[in-house]
Amino acid sequence: MTVQNLGTIRSYHAHIYFDGPAQRRTAEIIREEIGARFSVRLGRWHDRLVGPHTRPMYQVSFSADEFPRLVPWLMLNRRDLAVLIHPNTGRSKSDHLSHALWLGEILAINAGPLSDEDDGPEPPIDLNTTPTLKP
Ligand code: ZN
Repeated sequence: MTVQNLGTIRSYHAHIYFDGPAQRRTAEIIREEIGARFSVRLGRWHDRLVGPHTRPMYQVSFSADEFPRLVPWLMLNRRDLAVLIHPNTGRSKSDHLSHALWLGEILAINAGPLSDEDDGPEPPIDLNTTPTLKP
């Protein structure tokens, strides 16, 4: 296996999963807390299963600069929710299945929709939060 250098990581995603109404409310609180503290893109809610994900979730897109702030914050504040954090190198299959890390419960990932063909350059993250609080 060839060594991949850090420059292949274009950005990261955190997927915040929820199961049932109580966890969805927790996910709403965490979403507001993230938006108040971090420069990220908060993706839309997926109450129905989408892509390789086997539980409802929303996605948080963030840059490598935000990783050492957001990921430790999620370690401390995810409550009981499962969180998947993966790099975006353009090869979605290995990004999700080999290079990811989990906080809490490890969920199944459906490899069907994922590819290891380079899907081209990641567009710049369209930040949609306006942080006012320090993490
Ligand atoms: Zn993702």
